[in-house]
Amino acid sequence: MSTLHAHTRQFDARALREEFPILQRLVRGGKPLIYLDSAATSQKPAAVIQALEDFYRTTNANIHRGVYELSEAATLAYDQARAKVARLINAPDPRECIFVRNTTEAINLVAQSWGRANLGPGDIVVLSLLEHHSNIVPWQLIARERGAELRYIDIDESGRLLLEQLDEYLASGRVKLVSVTHVSNALGTITPVAEIVERAHAAGAVVLVDGAQSVPHLPVDVQALGVDFYAFSGHKMLGPMGIGVLYGRRELLEAMPPFLGGGDMIRTVTLEESTWADLPAKFEAGTPSVADAVALGVAVDYLQRLSMPAIRQHEMELVRYALARLDEIPGVTLYGPVGEDRSGVVSFTLGDVHPHDIAGILDSEGIAIRAGHHCAQPLMRRLGVVATARASVYLYNTEEDIDRLVDALLIVRQLFN
Ligand code: PLP
Repeated sequence: MSTLHAHTRQFDARALREEFPILQRLVRGGKPLIYLDSAATSQKPAAVIQALEDFYRTTNANIHRGVYELSEAATLAYDQARAKVARLINAPDPRECIFVRNTTEAINLVAQSWGRANLGPGDIVVLSLLEHHSNIVPWQLIARERGAELRYIDIDESGRLLLEQLDEYLASGRVKLVSVTHVSNALGTITPVAEIVERAHAAGAVVLVDGAQSVPHLPVDVQALGVDFYAFSGHKMLGPMGIGVLYGRRELLEAMPPFLGGGDMIRTVTLEESTWADLPAKFEAGTPSVADAVALGVAVDYLQRLSMPAIRQHEMELVRYALARLDEIPGVTLYGPVGEDRSGVVSFTLGDVHPHDIAGILDSEGIAIRAGHHCAQPLMRRLGVVATARASVYLYNTEEDIDRLVDALLIVRQLFN
């Protein structure tokens, strides 16, 4: 029987988790692992792990260099992985998908290449208070270098963006770029990307979207959203660590100077100067993570077999369940929007118990959650907390995982009462 009947409650997460070897292991002296930290990194199905091994056992050779069979096979596998990624996000052309190491590198690529060529004194880059540090620090670096300024879209009490503030910034006529997350890794807020793009484009600004928490969990269509750049990481979407993607609109990528220089990204080199290869090679200097890209392609196959709408629906059901169950625990404060515009991330605090203590006690019960500032220190400051505890779900989580979490939180509560 298929593990999935799309769009019904029959999404069989219990059967799916059998395909994730790590979820079979015991932790902390024999306890089953309850993994609720997929926002940090997802676990990998056997098919993805196998793809890595298969590549090195059967296909390993450097790409674009050899005329022999192995090199041709490796090059073909790498190109096919790019095509799969492009289809997943509905990019018009695979050459608009650049393989990078992760979301962080994708954003740095745009900041260093597009930013250096396009930002000058008095120009404004608009970010938001929901951003992960990887969508703040690269802009601070380039803004300082180019004399540009940063502005931040504030949030309301539930963690939604205040778009009126974006309009105010855009009205200055000085905004060159808006760079916002599609889904907050700390609150789970899903931001209205299409609306942001429409407003930004009307004011002549380019839009980058941090898709680290969206591509793994929601259907994403870069053409429907109208974005100019879209960044995401393979390791959060069942793929290996060390491979990520920058989607960029072709005209923009073609006009941009290279980010890193070296082999593979050139057309010609003389002692005085060089010319650049066509897309995507222009932005892929040096030997890429070929095996990781190929395995990411297998992860994309896996996600598409289940279908992104079905994954999204499963996570929404789990989050609704988690929010209701956590709300029953006296002393729990939940953060983030209540409604359909949130993802599978649940941030909470429990009275004045430090989130690190919560996570430590949960760990002794075999439950992995995150505690801290979630690489979003400005957001924590805005919320008036130093840290939160964060449980995040994926396609292999079940209601039983949430029940175990709640049981363990009741133990925490007793210990600190
Ligand atoms: N942006 C968001 C919203 C994230 O959640 C993360 C990772 O947690 C990143 C960016 C950075 O991703 P990476 O560490 O894979 O570059």
